[in-house]
Amino acid sequence: MAQQERFDLAIVGGGLVGAGLACALAESGLRLAVLEAVPFRSAAQPSYDDRTLALSQGSKRILDSMQLWPEVARRDATPIEHVHISDHGRPGMARLHARQFGVEALGYVVTARVLGQVLLERLQQCAAQLEIFCPAIVDAVDPHPDHARLAWTDAAGVRHDIDTRLLVLADGGRSRTRELVGISAQVRDYRQSAVLCTVTPESGHGNWAYERFTSSGPLALLPTSSGRFAVVWTAGRDQVPELTSMPDDEFLLRLRQRAGDRAGRLDRVGQRNAYALNLVRVTDSVRPRTVVIGNAAHTVHPVAGQGFNLGLRDVAVLAELLHDAAAAGRDIGDTALLQRYASLRRRDTRAVAAFTDSLIRLFANDFPPAVIMRSLGLLALDTLPFAKRFLVRRTMGLAGWLPRLARGLPLG
Ligand SMILES: Cc1cc2nc3c(=O)[nH]c(=O)nc-3n(C[C@H](O)[C@H](O)[C@H](O)COP(=O)(O)OP(=O)(O)OC[C@H]3O[C@@H](n4cnc5c(N)ncnc54)[C@H](O)[C@@H]3O)c2cc1C
Repeated sequence: MAQQERFDLAIVGGGLVGAGLACALAESGLRLAVLEAVPFRSAAQPSYDDRTLALSQGSKRILDSMQLWPEVARRDATPIEHVHISDHGRPGMARLHARQFGVEALGYVVTARVLGQVLLERLQQCAAQLEIFCPAIVDAVDPHPDHARLAWTDAAGVRHDIDTRLLVLADGGRSRTRELVGISAQVRDYRQSAVLCTVTPESGHGNWAYERFTSSGPLALLPTSSGRFAVVWTAGRDQVPELTSMPDDEFLLRLRQRAGDRAGRLDRVGQRNAYALNLVRVTDSVRPRTVVIGNAAHTVHPVAGQGFNLGLRDVAVLAELLHDAAAAGRDIGDTALLQRYASLRRRDTRAVAAFTDSLIRLFANDFPPAVIMRSLGLLALDTLPFAKRFLVRRTMGLAGWLPRLARGLPLG
């Protein structure tokens, strides 16, 4: 590669969000670069792993507008038709059904690895418009008035430079480049980890998802295309070594105690993996010629399955602004454009972070008024149509101002 090549847009991090943005803009006429540290098909790839993601209707629509959804659906998407929410050992539960809201599903369960493969195949089809540097670890950023220069190191340890009119940082919750450009982040350690695995329900999942709040954190069972449940078991970090190493039958016994009998008897546990959980929020998502998106800008608790959905909405809004600026011959790295992006995304990001964080706080609290409040909350959710509508609109990703991709329209 020639040194100091010049791009319109360089995306640091080719994870689900970075690759999603590159796919959205692949036909915009912009010259794109994606720099990814870990080879896409390697077992160590942190974004394209075996975790299951609950995608909202809004995310489905965005992926549909990008003409990616049919391939995702053909390979892996499982509709969530019913949701059951309960509080372990307490009264109160709520049930939500897709048909009550006139939709075929309240969301879809997809494996991150499969979604990653679909994104990657699309990027490979667009090789003329974009260059993928991988493995490429970005380790220096130097802003200039009309471009940013970034330096990266390849697998052989050789350093390279590229110039870009706009730099998008999508390098995940532990973003290093965020620090390099002087964007500070508030990080709160939940001191919890999510243990993920799959189990087989004795009598099928029937497209039900279960969310059960327990004193040590929420437990979710999500229906998958293999007929199994994906388990997302949140526990105190000190319990994780035991949960991931105990014999399968012991784990199943504990899981059955936690999950109750609503989902039927659970058997045959698959491999268990743990993820440490943090809340990360940047204080500002924009610097000259630079914007931060996805988990690098906001990492939320997986309790309501919102993290990637939120990142995909970042993609839809940023792609629209950049596409329109490019089509009008305007500078895509212009500060006013980046500020507009930040202001369009602020409300949604804050609302989702506050919503997920308050769920964790409320359900971890054994103070009697909090216990009564959540029992009443679940009762209200089960019986009051407006309470159901409020929650479902919020989690479907269809509330508030929607960019074109989220309205089912193409960018151009
Ligand atoms: C247990 C769990 C369950 C979840 N469930 C859901 C769910 O149900 N629904 C949902 O919407 N979301 C869910 N999420 C959240 C979702 O997984 C994340 O929001 C999403 O993966 C974030 O994608 P990203 O591309 O922003 O970041 P990442 O996936 O972290 O990707 C960042 C990429 O940047 C690369 N990188 C890092 N540093 C550099 C560098 N210096 N140079 C170059 N490349 C670099 C990394 O290698 C990586 O590929 C869940 C998360 C967890 C942990």
